[in-house]
Amino acid sequence: MKHSLNESTELLYLKGIEGSYIRETEVSIIGYENGGYILDRTMMHYQGGGQPGDKGFILSGEERIRIYNVVKKGRKVIHLSMDKVDLKKGKLTVNWERRYKIMKMHTLQHGLSSYFFNEGGMTVESEVFPGYGYVVLDKEIKRIPEEAYEISRKALPLKRYDLSRGDLDPDTLKRCNLEKLPKSINTISIVEIQGLDICACAGTHLLNTKEIGDYWIRNTGKKIEFGLF
Ligand SMILES: [Zn+2]
Repeated sequence: MKHSLNESTELLYLKGIEGSYIRETEVSIIGYENGGYILDRTMMHYQGGGQPGDKGFILSGEERIRIYNVVKKGRKVIHLSMDKVDLKKGKLTVNWERRYKIMKMHTLQHGLSSYFFNEGGMTVESEVFPGYGYVVLDKEIKRIPEEAYEISRKALPLKRYDLSRGDLDPDTLKRCNLEKLPKSINTISIVEIQGLDICACAGTHLLNTKEIGDYWIRNTGKKIEFGLF
C-alpha cells in the first residue's frame, strides 16, 4: 500500500486495551521531517494528553535509529531522532520498562481523579511521568478517601471502546472535560475502569489496576502528587 505524507499514522495502542501492550511491530518509514520519522503505524504514544512521548528504536539489520521522543505536529506523528538513516522498513521497538511505568501512572491517575471528583474536586490538569504524576483540582478536597489507596488491591479490569459523539452520556462522563475534545472528532475512544471510572481518553492503560502495584499519594492542596514505591 502506498502512503502519502498527508495520511495519518495508524495508532496501534488505541486497538482495545490490549493495544497498549504491543512492544514491537514492523513498520514502513514514510519520510523524515521536523527532526523525526513518519511511519505507517506505531505503538508509540506521542507527547500530549498529560502523558509523555515514548522512546525506542527502529532496527533493521545493522542499522539502528534511536527515537528520543514522539510528538504530533498537525496530523503527523513524528518520531524524533538525531539519526539520519536511509531505511524503508524496520522493526519499531518501544522502551517497554519506561512505557509500562507510564501506563501504571496514567491508569492510577484515572482512578484517583474519579475518587477526587466524588469528594468535590474536578481534575483540571494532570501529568504523568515514569513512576510519578500529579493532578491539579479546581478546588481543595477535605480528605483523600481511603478507597483511593485501594485501587491496585481491588484488581479492577479495564476496557476500551468507541462511542459516537451523539451517544455520549454527559452525566457518566461529567468528571472528564468533554469540552476539551476537538469538535472535529466524531468517534470518541472511551476507557472504563470497571465500577470506578469512565472517561474519554486516547492514552495508554493497563489491563487491570492490580498491575499498578504499591503507590503513595501526597496532598499539597489543589495539587495532589502520586507515585510508585
Ligand atoms: Zn487515559
